[in-house]
Amino acid sequence: MMQNVKFQNLEGKKMTDNWEIISKDDYFKDTDNYEYTIEHLPGNPDLVKMFDYCRHNEHNPGVVPNLTINGFGLTDEWVATLAKYCGGIAVSRYDNKDICYDAVKKLTDAGIAQVNIHSVIANENYDQCFELVNDAKDDPRLEKMKALVFLTLKPKGKRNTWTTIKDLDKYRFLVNYAMSHGIGIGFDSCSAPTFLAAMKEHPKFDLLSQLSESCESDRFSGYANVDGIWSHCSFTEGLPNWGTVDLKTITDFDSEVWHSPEVRRFRGCLTCQDNKHIASEVYLCPVYDLYGPEVGRAASAVVESDRKRFIPIKTQAEIDAQNAADTVSVVARFL
Ligand code: SF4
Repeated sequence: MMQNVKFQNLEGKKMTDNWEIISKDDYFKDTDNYEYTIEHLPGNPDLVKMFDYCRHNEHNPGVVPNLTINGFGLTDEWVATLAKYCGGIAVSRYDNKDICYDAVKKLTDAGIAQVNIHSVIANENYDQCFELVNDAKDDPRLEKMKALVFLTLKPKGKRNTWTTIKDLDKYRFLVNYAMSHGIGIGFDSCSAPTFLAAMKEHPKFDLLSQLSESCESDRFSGYANVDGIWSHCSFTEGLPNWGTVDLKTITDFDSEVWHSPEVRRFRGCLTCQDNKHIASEVYLCPVYDLYGPEVGRAASAVVESDRKRFIPIKTQAEIDAQNAADTVSVVARFL
């Protein structure tokens, strides 16, 4: 199971007030991967304590934390700390690519084997994704980088005016371009249905399909923000149709989170889907309309026995209108 912990809440608060260990029992005993996201490294004084706990706690020691950063403020001292604790670091590529590339060089020079670059992929920065591939090939700062990871744009956030790429040809062209230049690439799990549909005719499709994991939220991962509030994934946080759990108030993780009605409801939105037109086991995002017509929408991928429980709450026209108004779209819910 992977846990995703973000050091920020929707209001932009970055500090963990009264941070405490809430997993003194056997919660996440099988967990081998915690993934943290923090923009400004010194912004949370508890970061190192949490990493140390992951590695050395008496209940489930040896958990290896991963971290996503933006590269700002990466001092030599921080590089040494991250190299000591983290298994993998992802550096997000924003407007100033030099900040990202310099950070990648510092981290790989420190011996961190798994350093990736994360970049959103959207219609508006499609050309920049090719620039990234070219830089991965030619820029010496990226020589020891592991892979480029492209993240499907989700239509969330008022300042987010970019649009999700739904054109399979565009995906295929980028993937083939990177592969032909020997660059390691990856995608977030939200992208898996589009990636697989785009690569359907690839001679190694079966292998690509085995290497692709679609939405894992509530199947083997969860998300908590800086306040210890559990959401299905970071993109359901704050949406009216999806619930949360306050992890600070629970006494039994199994019954109050993992098998709670809300988490089972979300999990059911994934596991009841049948998307064999793409691959044998692939799940579409049950929250956002991220895909083109060849991939489909989660509401239409629900197997017949579950269809009566799956209630589309908005028509495509309503979703498009909502997206045009730059607000969040929620495509369906389960009853
Ligand atoms: S619910 Fe949707 S946005 Fe969230 S991780 Fe799954 S596919 Fe991505």
